[in-house]
Amino acid sequence: MMSRQKNDEPLFEPYDSAALTRLRRSLKAWYAKRARDLPWRNIGDAYRVWISEIMLQQTTVATVVPYFERFINRFPTIHDLANAEQNEVLRHWEGLGYYSRARNIHKTAKLLVEQSNGVFPQTTDELTALPGIGRYTAGAIMSFAFDLPGAIVEANTLRLYSRLLCLDENPRATHGQKVLWAFAEHLLPRKNIGPFNQSLMDLGATVCTPTDPKCRECPLLPHCGAATADRQNEIPMAAPKPEITPVIEVSVAIQHEDRFLLRRYPEGQRWAGLWDFVRFPLGDAESLVPTSGLTAAAKIPQKLIANIELSVHEATGTVVELDRFLKEIRHSVTRYRISLLCFLASTEHATPEPNENLAWVPAEQLDDYPLSTTGRKLAVLVQRSQPTLF
Ligand code: SF4
Repeated sequence: MMSRQKNDEPLFEPYDSAALTRLRRSLKAWYAKRARDLPWRNIGDAYRVWISEIMLQQTTVATVVPYFERFINRFPTIHDLANAEQNEVLRHWEGLGYYSRARNIHKTAKLLVEQSNGVFPQTTDELTALPGIGRYTAGAIMSFAFDLPGAIVEANTLRLYSRLLCLDENPRATHGQKVLWAFAEHLLPRKNIGPFNQSLMDLGATVCTPTDPKCRECPLLPHCGAATADRQNEIPMAAPKPEITPVIEVSVAIQHEDRFLLRRYPEGQRWAGLWDFVRFPLGDAESLVPTSGLTAAAKIPQKLIANIELSVHEATGTVVELDRFLKEIRHSVTRYRISLLCFLASTEHATPEPNENLAWVPAEQLDDYPLSTTGRKLAVLVQRSQPTLF
């Protein structure tokens, strides 16, 4: 379905102008009946398009919809977002993960308000120069908000284009990406570009699904290389899976009277700007954890207790007494499969002193702080916990 010119640029032979006209017509008729009704669509508002597209990176539509509605309710304009405290922006992002996205939208909102009174630029170069805006988001803003020729390649269209072209290479690698972006540009109509791009995304999401695509319902079946070759389930080529590394980490809710110690992650870290209880990797002390794991009812090895109390002291300067094991939370971060052992501890002195990155917070006020997902789970546990001493 694709050949090469001498300069190695892909040439999409079967997609000549007559074929493109047929493809666009079929797609338009399908979209008129099957378009998804999403709260950020058909409003021509670059701010809402931008927020929704950033939220949708690595996250499903079903998860994003309530977050988007809450976010827009609190920050209805780019000026509201620019004027907000980072803590509040992160609190409204809490649970969506990939927090650099929230930090970047806050930075970009401030920048645009300062530079252009909040008006978005309308070229790929200017848009991609802004923090957190890549080629896909720029294409989405240009086409959905301004009906300008912005191409898009995201998860759904990557799969769809790969199958249309019967692409026999990794679509996420450099060359595969070059081919797909060139194809996305090649497909673009001269007008109604936003609805055209949205119809491709919807078709990828609802018909050209990752497994068992519904080819019989697909308006692009006559144009599809993978369906013609009966290779829909082999394409796109799967990305190599990263090797998973298991690690054990510890999170300690340190209590002084009715308050708990929270610390803010510094700049440059994955969870920068978020708050958390004292958390650290167990490292060499992993061997002290019984192979059967820990439970609230079982006795915790004294050596492990001593090791954790010492690590807390090294990390904070606080002398604590580990009161009880609360729960093991399992979660994954990139290639790490983390087993997070959560403890409750107490201290006689509220040291170190509070500052902008450290706070002693009453249990009921933990809700006001943006926490990592596991931090929030631990906060709920300490708010509800009942004493069960070792
Ligand atoms: S024919 Fe099948 S594989 Fe090809 S684009 Fe349509 S749904 Fe996807």
